[in-house]
Amino acid sequence: MDSEPKPSFLSAYLKSSSVIFDLKADDKVQALDELCEVLAKQKLIANKKIILTRLIDRERLETTAIGDHVALPHARVDTDGEVAVAVGRSEKGVEFDSVDDKKVHLVILVVWNPSIPGLFNHLFAGLAKFLRRADFRSRAFQAKDKADLYNILSEIELMLPPLDVTVSRASLLKRLQEIEIKRKRATKEQKKLLEKESLHLREELDQALLARFDRLMERYGFAVADVADGACQGCNINVATGMSAAIDGSNDIYICENCGKYLVAYRGAPAKTAKSAKPAKAAKAAKAAKTAKTGKAAKAKKKT
Ligand SMILES: [Zn+2]
Repeated sequence: MDSEPKPSFLSAYLKSSSVIFDLKADDKVQALDELCEVLAKQKLIANKKIILTRLIDRERLETTAIGDHVALPHARVDTDGEVAVAVGRSEKGVEFDSVDDKKVHLVILVVWNPSIPGLFNHLFAGLAKFLRRADFRSRAFQAKDKADLYNILSEIELMLPPLDVTVSRASLLKRLQEIEIKRKRATKEQKKLLEKESLHLREELDQALLARFDRLMERYGFAVADVADGACQGCNINVATGMSAAIDGSNDIYICENCGKYLVAYRGAPAKTAKSAKPAKAAKAAKAAKTAKTGKAAKAKKKT
């Protein structure tokens, strides 16, 4: 039972005082500023300037206007703080570089903290699921007043992961590693999808972790190693017994004292461990191999 996702509602994160019934903004930046101001005034965010910058930077990577007059801008804060949500409705519409070029009439802004990995993606998925429904959107667009809009949005159900099965940051890093490795040999079309997936995973992880991850990826071709039979599969050196036990099922991040890689408890099949722990070796082997046959074998090994 505990592993069932627990339903929660947007009203758990959205205060009626954070709803703007008619935004003054004409464009994206003005709208983000207006919504941040509402959160700052209520002290729901500590530093408006930083958050506004993050929101704008995020929009530059990829627009959050998902189409059908809806935008879901978001920013992460690495300092402490709860999830803060602000909503703006716009009668005249806001220019938001939407994927379908339509003006945006509903903006739901989310500021969150990555202390609960997986929270953001579930929140975002819940919002998107409701807002893709035409009947739900038209009810929101036709709300009579602020209270009416708040009540309609409060129906949005978010399937949040229960705390005990919350994705660990180490497993998010591992998935990110798989994507980054795939990206290197992907076709142009695949690359687009992988970049998007990488971006979504990076949303959940804090800057310091990512900076270190990227350095390790650049230096070794991989950054996360499994722990199997008490040994780091990145360097085959045993990790301390207490540490090995702690890594299992933990949300903390552990680093191999010998090779410096992030450690993640091994859960898959043995073949998988060998693959994900030694892509650098496989790549090296492929490079060193002069014959096409050996190169092919190394490639196949990585694919499985
Ligand atoms: Zn190691």
